[in-house]
Amino acid sequence: MSVLKIVRYPESVLFTIGKPILDFDAKLKTLVEDMFETMYAAKGVGLAAPQVAVSSRLFVMDCSGGEDEKQKIAAINPEIIMHEGEQIGDEGCLSFPGLYQQIQRNMRAIVRAQDVDGNWFELDGEELTARCILHETDHCDGIIFLDRMTVLKREMAKRKIKKLQKTGEWSR
Ligand SMILES: [Zn+2]
Repeated sequence: MSVLKIVRYPESVLFTIGKPILDFDAKLKTLVEDMFETMYAAKGVGLAAPQVAVSSRLFVMDCSGGEDEKQKIAAINPEIIMHEGEQIGDEGCLSFPGLYQQIQRNMRAIVRAQDVDGNWFELDGEELTARCILHETDHCDGIIFLDRMTVLKREMAKRKIKKLQKTGEWSR
């Protein structure tokens, strides 16, 4: 397993719609293992393929931070099939180091996806799990969390990003 390089905003792969995954082969399994390794090393709870410069519809997540094997999930070709309610809370993204912003998301979301062997499953999540499912599925659609902010918050975030880029914290 190896830790991959995480791409930072504003690299274009983050704005590109990921291609569907058709081959459930050894190469895919290696990518998924490397993405878990990369996510844990960066202390994140979710990581999508475009964030490691692979423009494919795939993400990994673990809201338990490695504590609970059941929460370690790889979702391939994910699609949100139900969402309801709302929650407002701080959200971060490994492609935006040091940036946390309040973002409104659904309180509950159900994603339908395939596992590494191609078997379809559904994951029904609430609170942080729902936030993570929605954030990572967005990445597969080329949507970043700046797009989910109010105009005012987005402008504030962009100013903060410029500051972080100047101090060099963005490239760490
Ligand atoms: Zn993200």
